[in-house]
Amino acid sequence: MTYLNLRRSMAAAAGLAALAAFVNVALATNSWGGYHWARTTPQFTLKLGNNLSAGWQQHLSDASSDWNSPTVFGAASTPLLTAIVAGQSNKRCSMVAGTTQVCNSTYGNNGWLGLASINITGGVHITQGSAKMNDTYFNTSTYNNVNEKRHVMCQEIAHTFGLDHQSTDGSSQNTCMDYFSNTGANATKTASTRPNLHDFDELNIIYGHLDSTTTVAQTTSLSSNADVDANDDPNSWGKLVSQSNNGRSSTYERYNNDGSKTVSHVYWSLEAAAKCPSCDHRYDGGH
Ligand SMILES: [Zn+2]
Ligand SMILES: [Zn+2]
Repeated sequence: MTYLNLRRSMAAAAGLAALAAFVNVALATNSWGGYHWARTTPQFTLKLGNNLSAGWQQHLSDASSDWNSPTVFGAASTPLLTAIVAGQSNKRCSMVAGTTQVCNSTYGNNGWLGLASINITGGVHITQGSAKMNDTYFNTSTYNNVNEKRHVMCQEIAHTFGLDHQSTDGSSQNTCMDYFSNTGANATKTASTRPNLHDFDELNIIYGHLDSTTTVAQTTSLSSNADVDANDDPNSWGKLVSQSNNGRSSTYERYNNDGSKTVSHVYWSLEAAAKCPSCDHRYDGGH
């Protein structure tokens, strides 16, 4: 090899290495559209309003405790702490400014297991969130187990932190931000029921800057803003903007009269997804 050719191949190798590093960074990202709570301090506490019935309380407290314990998962710190407070909502889970309201109910045979919605102002700032678990499915033998409930609870509340999925193909990345199904033969497996290191790395990236204002509630006396709400009625979710290949994960967006946007992540049941993976499951009927 001539010196010039050597230089060229070294440059090409360096270019490939840089590209590989870039691809790794891109793959490592599970931010939900850059959405984040505005805040003026490096660490903040998000209030999780507990509107849950008795059977779900432990799953919320386990999830909250996991998200508050970065060192358990190998991370040095987390910018986002959670605090469970008395629920300020109702079964429909109307949002309350500055908080995430967490709810469960028998929302019906509408195909979804879990639903997380956030309201966005200024393009990126989360102003309020809600996370709902559908007992119409969780009361059935397929889904009624500790691991599946813990998986979905952990994921739905974390969407309201600004986290997206790490994977939607059904494989376990051993994070609750994937679509491994803790059902059937996997009902006793604890894989994917808790966060992993990568989720905390991502939170530290998402919250690596400070904002000049805050959208996080400092008190619990704020009121709900029903005008920008996305509730359990699928018609309130807006337009389908993306869906995973297997049909289990969909994102919807709605633009509101006040200029804000409401974005929802829908976690579809196995049955709804299998029926027609590429359909908008709101309209493929008869779940
Ligand atoms: Zn910001
Ligand atoms: Zn999800």
